[in-house]
Amino acid sequence: MSILVDQIQAANKAFVDAGITAGGRDDVSKYPSQNLAILTCMDTRLLDFLEPAMGLQRGDAKVIKVAGNTAYESFDSVIGSLMVAVYELHVRHIIVMGHDDCGMLKTTADSLCQKMLAAGIDEKNIAAIQPKLKAWADPIMNIDESVRHTVRCLRDNPFLPDSVTIYGMTIHPGDGAIRVVDDGTQQ
Ligand SMILES: [Zn+2]
Repeated sequence: MSILVDQIQAANKAFVDAGITAGGRDDVSKYPSQNLAILTCMDTRLLDFLEPAMGLQRGDAKVIKVAGNTAYESFDSVIGSLMVAVYELHVRHIIVMGHDDCGMLKTTADSLCQKMLAAGIDEKNIAAIQPKLKAWADPIMNIDESVRHTVRCLRDNPFLPDSVTIYGMTIHPGDGAIRVVDDGTQQ
C-alpha cells in the first residue's frame, strides 16, 4: 500500500478514536446553518484557513472549490452543485471567494497546453480542448475583476433564482484579510 494511504489511515484511526464518541461529530446537519454556499479556489493555503477567517464552523456552509473559483458556464458541475445547494439544501446566499496570488492569474491555455504536450498528451486532444481552456483560463488577469465577473455570471445564470443573493469577496492567503468586492446589493 502507498505511503499516502498508510499516512491517511493512521491519521484517520487516531481521529476517529479520539473524537467520535466524545465530540459528537455526527450530529451536524447537512443543511447549512447559515444558508450559505461559498465558491472558492482549490489553493492549498485556504485549507483550514478560509473558514476560520470568515468565522464559519463545521455545518455552517457548503463549500465548492475549483481553480480560480469560476462559474462561467450556464451549466456545469459547479452550477449543478449550486443548484443542489439552493434547491435541496436551503441555500439563500452564495459568496464567490477569490484570493490574492491565485495560481490562475499566471495559468493560461498556452501554458497548460505546453505542459500537456511535454507530459505526452496527444496533440489532437490538446487542440480539441484548447479553445475551452482559453475561454476559461485566459480571462483571469485580475482577481477582483475575475470575482466580479463570476458574480455577474451567477446573477445572470438562467437556472438560479433571483431570491438568492450573490456576493463577491477576496481573501489574502497570508494574513487572511477579506476584501468585499461586491456586497450583494447590486442585484
Ligand atoms: Zn487560486
